[in-house]
Amino acid sequence: MIFRQLFDPVSSTYTYLLADPDTREAVLIDTVFEQHARDSALVRELGLTLRYTLDTHCHADHVTGAWLMKAALGSEIVISKHAGATNVDRPVDHGDTLTFGGLTLEARSTPGHTDGCVTYVTSDHLMAFTGDCLLIRGAGRTDFQQGNAHRLYRSIQEQIFSLPDACLIYPGHDYQGRTVSSVDEEKAHNPRVGGQASEGDFVGYMENLGLPHPKQIDAAVPANLKSGRPEDGRVPRAADWGPVVLTYAGLGEIEPDWVASHLSDVHILDVRLEQEIDEEHGAIEGAQLIPISELRDRVDDVPRDKPVVTVCRSGKRSGQATVILRKAGFRNVANMAGGMIRWRDLALPSASA
Ligand code: FE
Repeated sequence: MIFRQLFDPVSSTYTYLLADPDTREAVLIDTVFEQHARDSALVRELGLTLRYTLDTHCHADHVTGAWLMKAALGSEIVISKHAGATNVDRPVDHGDTLTFGGLTLEARSTPGHTDGCVTYVTSDHLMAFTGDCLLIRGAGRTDFQQGNAHRLYRSIQEQIFSLPDACLIYPGHDYQGRTVSSVDEEKAHNPRVGGQASEGDFVGYMENLGLPHPKQIDAAVPANLKSGRPEDGRVPRAADWGPVVLTYAGLGEIEPDWVASHLSDVHILDVRLEQEIDEEHGAIEGAQLIPISELRDRVDDVPRDKPVVTVCRSGKRSGQATVILRKAGFRNVANMAGGMIRWRDLALPSASA
């Protein structure tokens, strides 16, 4: 299985990407609205087809990216039928399964943090995505939404601690950088629900946490009840001047054929050395030549009246050039994907060839 664990540092949320390496079908668990560009770039770069976005529950601390993924990639929105959300394609209940390629996830109803909490378990029972039900050495809070410490205790004991001891626990959050645990580890060492903790012990612990009111709850819950559909119903674009695509590396890229047909709308900055511009790779008509090693010192030579497209041989140095330009305050900048090698392969017009 293809498996990636991603982190949103603002809400300390983990997002999980699971995919079948043969059919390339994938799911995302708990994708975050603000991480849409990153998560969709990873799906694209790994050559995956996103079948579903799964939310473990209606979050109070961040907005789901489920609706954005559906709008951008055509995935179906999955959440518990007990979450009460709209714009849902597959409302799941206890025992339902979701298949993507040769992989299957089973939904286990694990209420207590909210009524609509679901733990998703792989069919071999070796990985459980527990959301905010069971956390590493912790458990989801039970003092807002439909929180109920009694229900949470029973969910953990009956639905999670009944899994094999070796089953890995992947939580919805961690605030201390811990990434994974296991059933036997949490049974032994979870300070709230492990060891000999009874339901009464757990409830006594949970009712005295004294946590602050979540900052995002008033905005996040209403947005999540619409599956993260923004008010204007639009997917935010990386740039308003052209079809810039953000890569998983965090760089803005634009395709050479778009550049070729919009040469008068953009400024081309070529960051190669002069001697590299030869018969083989050519150059783009009207390009300004500033080698990458001189760009920091000569950044004021770059005009600011048009979006800047950076270019080099293979599109690597020009990627770094976009970083230098952004640091210098340029907002409308993109790297030409694949550089002059792609330009030549696409047989686009070259000035000096
Ligand atoms: Fe939560």
